[in-house]
Amino acid sequence: MDHVSKANTVNLENFWMPFTANRQFKAAPRLLAAADGMYYTDVDGNKVLDGTAGLWCCNAGHGRKKISQAVERQLATLDFAPTFQMGHPIAFDFAAKLAEHAPGGPGAKLDRVFFTGSGSESVDTALKIAIAYQRAIGQGTRTRIIGREKGYHGVGFGGISVGGLVNNRRVFPQIPADHMRHTLDVERNAFTKGLPTHGVELADDLERLVQLHGAETIAAVIVEPMSGSAGVILPPKGYLERLRTIADKHGILLIFDEVITGFGRLGTPFGSDYFGVTPDLITTAKGITNGAIPMGAVFAGRKIYDGLMTGPENAIELFHGYTYSGHPVACAAGLATMEIYEEEGLLTRAADLAADWENALHSLKGLPHVVDIRNLGLVGAIELAPRENAPGTRAYDVFVDCFHKGLLIRVTGDIIALSPPLIVEREQIGTIVSMIGDALKRAA
Ligand code: PMP
Repeated sequence: MDHVSKANTVNLENFWMPFTANRQFKAAPRLLAAADGMYYTDVDGNKVLDGTAGLWCCNAGHGRKKISQAVERQLATLDFAPTFQMGHPIAFDFAAKLAEHAPGGPGAKLDRVFFTGSGSESVDTALKIAIAYQRAIGQGTRTRIIGREKGYHGVGFGGISVGGLVNNRRVFPQIPADHMRHTLDVERNAFTKGLPTHGVELADDLERLVQLHGAETIAAVIVEPMSGSAGVILPPKGYLERLRTIADKHGILLIFDEVITGFGRLGTPFGSDYFGVTPDLITTAKGITNGAIPMGAVFAGRKIYDGLMTGPENAIELFHGYTYSGHPVACAAGLATMEIYEEEGLLTRAADLAADWENALHSLKGLPHVVDIRNLGLVGAIELAPRENAPGTRAYDVFVDCFHKGLLIRVTGDIIALSPPLIVEREQIGTIVSMIGDALKRAA
């Protein structure tokens, strides 16, 4: 008798799955039941090596007892309390802990922390802070935001407005925003190790948009210092520095969306540290609680915070917030997460592994259909040539094949994206890459 998967005994009717071809999924479901360290276990007991830290979020790996115990303790002590016109110590404690790691030099540290429930909420929050700040300093005509083609900033109306992935935009209306050209130039930069050498001049596209709209209409520019969801698009050398210079010249705030690059992904606490460019606002989520409890945070510097604190003392300075801003259980998970990151040196571990990661990934050059390989810190992408009649399907087949062989990867279009937990061992890097290599050969 054929083995019957337990997945077929699960009622798949009612959960409307996000970012998923629901009908296709139900025909051949992949269901995870447990996780520990670097591995998931599916409902049939098969081990799946996590090549993506869940969704770029479980930086300390899975099943961390310190986090689950902290969550349990917090739930039993103070399960929920409002943070509107009142508070609880753990939210202040967690903000203070995060501030210790915040980027920016003396006096310019981004050490004011606004809590949210997700990356999308962090983006909406940062956009609103930017516009509110401009208004508070007498620049009320600055309401436009500049994003970038292929940028991903979550799925709120703010995020899709500044984002530049067509599938996220085509169905829905958007708030006024304009977009710089993207920096993915496979032709000139193919198989570059680390940061691309070509394309710094694309930062000047911001200057073009300033000339088009007028600086006095633009509040902020938002970019991912390294785009993840679009398929790992790395900024050309000098690009972010140049954006900073142009933004400063025109009084435009610079927002880094670090939902992926925050918390050690590039081998520094934040991407901002890696690139040596300090933005005015940073959005985070994911790794802030190791993915265990939904949470996000926006980091701002004194300039922004103080700029909004100028009205009467009894007035609400930023009329914005979420029921779950600074949720005590999320803060407990976050504090435990930061303790793990600190104790195990995970905020910088990617730097130690980056060279091995780079060499392993680039060993896939020359395999069938591989047209580009990109890497930075513990992030990687393998871009495949699209099928002539069905672009965007080749990597998906590799994803399904890898899953059944015991490896979790991520795909966007024809790009395989990788971001293993930062606890990954060198040997496991070898395993991830050789399993992908085998899958690429089978696909040929
Ligand atoms: N911004 C970036 C850069 C992201 O990568 C993501 C999620 N992948 C988001 C925002 C949205 O985060 P969330 O899914 O938690 O809303």
